[in-house]
Amino acid sequence: MNTTTTNTSSYIPTDKQYPKLSKATSGYLEIEHFKNADLHSGYFCYNCTYFIEPNHCAIVKDNGPDVYNKESRVIAPYGLCTLWDPNEEETR
Ligand code: SF4
Repeated sequence: MNTTTTNTSSYIPTDKQYPKLSKATSGYLEIEHFKNADLHSGYFCYNCTYFIEPNHCAIVKDNGPDVYNKESRVIAPYGLCTLWDPNEEETR
């Protein structure tokens, strides 16, 4: 008798590529005034888990308009979106 009770629906598949979100959907924005701020403290892409140096994000697209209809073609270290998640190694 097979007593295995593995519930396959509890696994998240890792063999698929999921589309990234648009900047507008994620609530992404950039504020030029924070370009030279200490990006280790506060809510910035720089200290977010999903940030990929130097100018990308694992879950939000580089291109397309942000919430202010501005297009920068990058995910800026001083940018921010509503999905921000603290990267413990970069946050002070
Ligand atoms: S805050 Fe994080 S999830 Fe949002 S765009 Fe920046 S790096 Fe990506």
